[in-house]
Amino acid sequence: MKALIVSIGDELVLGQTLDTNSAWIAARLAELGCDVAAHVTVGDDKTAIESLLRQTLQRDDPPDLLLISGGLGPTEDDLTREALADTLGVGLTLHEPWLEQIRTFFRQRGREMPRRNSVQAMIPTGAELIWNDHGTAAGIDARFERAGRAVRVLAMPGVPGEMKPMFEKSVRPIVSGASVGAVILQRTLHTFGLGESSVAERLGDLMRRDRNPSVGTTVSEAVVSLRINARFASVQDAINATERTIAECRAALGNLIYGADGQTLAQAVAQLLTQEKGTVATAESCTGGLVAKYLTDIPGSSQYFQQGFVVYSNEAKRQRLGVNENLLHVHGAVSEPVVLAMARGARRLAGSSYALAISGIAGPDGGTPTKPVGTVCIALAHLAPATRPLAKGVDREDEVNAYARTFNLPGDRAMIRDRAAKTALAMLRFRLLGEPLPF
Ligand code: AMP
Ligand code: MG
Repeated sequence: MKALIVSIGDELVLGQTLDTNSAWIAARLAELGCDVAAHVTVGDDKTAIESLLRQTLQRDDPPDLLLISGGLGPTEDDLTREALADTLGVGLTLHEPWLEQIRTFFRQRGREMPRRNSVQAMIPTGAELIWNDHGTAAGIDARFERAGRAVRVLAMPGVPGEMKPMFEKSVRPIVSGASVGAVILQRTLHTFGLGESSVAERLGDLMRRDRNPSVGTTVSEAVVSLRINARFASVQDAINATERTIAECRAALGNLIYGADGQTLAQAVAQLLTQEKGTVATAESCTGGLVAKYLTDIPGSSQYFQQGFVVYSNEAKRQRLGVNENLLHVHGAVSEPVVLAMARGARRLAGSSYALAISGIAGPDGGTPTKPVGTVCIALAHLAPATRPLAKGVDREDEVNAYARTFNLPGDRAMIRDRAAKTALAMLRFRLLGEPLPF
């Protein structure tokens, strides 16, 4: 089964309002095994809406479903019902029970129904009205036939808070009744550290376009995600095939995959820290506390997050963390010796098992030929586990393992800061996994 999703509104065409309805509807249709042929957005223009409806309905291969949102309000610019009636070649008929419902809606709010609202009780003759439990814009359920093929047109209000419950209550049963025999299952795996083309290279044949389940990649905020879509006749087949594909992706990428679906990199780190009862402190310069924010975005973070230092000036690095003035002078604030000293200082002061430190040049100014914008030094300090016996004469404070790396991160200021914070989290994650950083 195939659907076309149409959203109507000038604010959408102008880009003033983001079309979240189409994305939401598409995700629901996928759950129901219905393919989405396209998303189309038209303004509040009767001719434009009608021309789109005509083109769609009069094609030789029309979609089975046309899902519309928007343009069902009471004002001059709400033209969906008129355009639909004209396209179907019918007039508008008054739906008495809905008119009464609109009057009741206003009466309950202590107001008289404005005359204009009565237009919301007019629906194309022959179509059915879809009840709206949350507003005055009723939906429309119309059928159209072309060369022996039936097209079901379902129009819903544009307000997401009204469209979603209407979809769930009245549209979902129609779609699921019509789309027997197909299940679409979607899973997402997340990676951090490699670029999209390197991830694609490692996935190889898994990304072939004719594969089922299919594997595609998308990038958002430096996270490269693998989108797995399985299309099968039964739920069990879809689940089994998806699990096999996930295993193959893991075999190709190993621990570069840090999580699935809604999981963040910080959550993956938090999980590992909690498992080994580890704690962490941060010392941040160019990221201004972003690593601390990511780690404390997670409920229950007090379990493992100890303390965060934002040490922006050389003075702060010296005074707060005891970074040696000579180090700063000789190597500069953006250097491996300085971030190592920052990490060691933060770990000691917080008494945590791990500490991350970052110092870099986020730009747009401040770059030099030897340290261009995007140069970021990151260090990780790690106290030897208490279970490990100390060599004779060695103080536990001397048992701190620390390492630092210098990265050249691409992008503007915001991107460099974000990548730096995530790279630091990745360094901690691979340390917790007991593996070297794979990038
Ligand atoms: P309408 O039903 O056309 O009167 O739309 C009412 C309001 O719902 C608009 O002013 C938008 O704020 C919102 N809206 C309409 N269509 C969409 C859409 N596709 N995605 C997100 N919001 C929308
Ligand atoms: Mg509108």
